[in-house]
Amino acid sequence: MTAIRPGLPRLPAVHAALLEVLAVRSGNAWLLTGPARVGKRALADVVAALHNCARPGSGPCGVCASCQAAALGAHPDVLVLSPRTVTSTGKAARRKIIPIGAVLRARDRDKDYEVHVYEFLEVRPTYRRRVVIIDGAEYLNAETANALLKLIEEPPHGALFLLLAEDVRSVLPTLVSRSGRLGVPPAPESELERLLIASGQSADPELLAFAAGRAGLIADPEAARAALEGARHLSAALHEGLWQSLEAAAALEKTFSPALHSEALRFVWRREPPAVRAAADLALEALQEALESYANPGLSFQVFALKLRAAFGVGG
Ligand SMILES: [Zn+2]
Repeated sequence: MTAIRPGLPRLPAVHAALLEVLAVRSGNAWLLTGPARVGKRALADVVAALHNCARPGSGPCGVCASCQAAALGAHPDVLVLSPRTVTSTGKAARRKIIPIGAVLRARDRDKDYEVHVYEFLEVRPTYRRRVVIIDGAEYLNAETANALLKLIEEPPHGALFLLLAEDVRSVLPTLVSRSGRLGVPPAPESELERLLIASGQSADPELLAFAAGRAGLIADPEAARAALEGARHLSAALHEGLWQSLEAAAALEKTFSPALHSEALRFVWRREPPAVRAAADLALEALQEALESYANPGLSFQVFALKLRAAFGVGG
């Protein structure tokens, strides 16, 4: 671990080791790839802090005015873009994208994002360098990516772009070719254990197994534990009866966060026979599709429970 003070994200050693490369001022853009919740965002936050730190060492100093602003999550030189769920015109289906309105003030379409990249980069940095973090580069559509390309090639005031994505193949090639690329690997379990203990959390083996080396997952251990609990509760209820299954599904609906809960459910099912897991996976995919196409959520979760009972061989 680095000597980063509380407030800035704590990085596992394998990520802190990447700072040496990412601290170099010359690059305009980095594409950081790695599994969901592996810790790409925390790394990007630290890189942004490092490029603005008044006394940078192997990491940001943690005490200068810039680092204090970064620790509060309110750094004037850092802009984070993440995808929004939008309804595509004429269709009911929702999809996640980073629209052109995130980069320029587009007429009639500028309500989604308050600060646009163009405007943000027109202003000189308050500290040392403006940094744009794109948390979900795979969600940049061609129109948005094109608007960004010019800025990445000649960034005003030497700004830095940090593009985060799970898979390089899902990022538009024009963006990939203009960025330095770096893989963000999972960390050893002992590292995550240390991070949990350092943040005053208990390092329970199930949470560590669920994290599978992904530092981002233990950054919010309460959410991860709650998702596991919801997944376990539903799985147990499937075997108790139809009524219990429907009730557990309704309870899950109230807190359902699609990505995290899907991972938790798959983790809880990991020791089931392959055929059961495959059928349960299909039910989960159908649920996500239904939710994305504005189906009635209550009904969708009931159907999900029924399909799961069939998958586990406990219902008709
Ligand atoms: Zn500092």
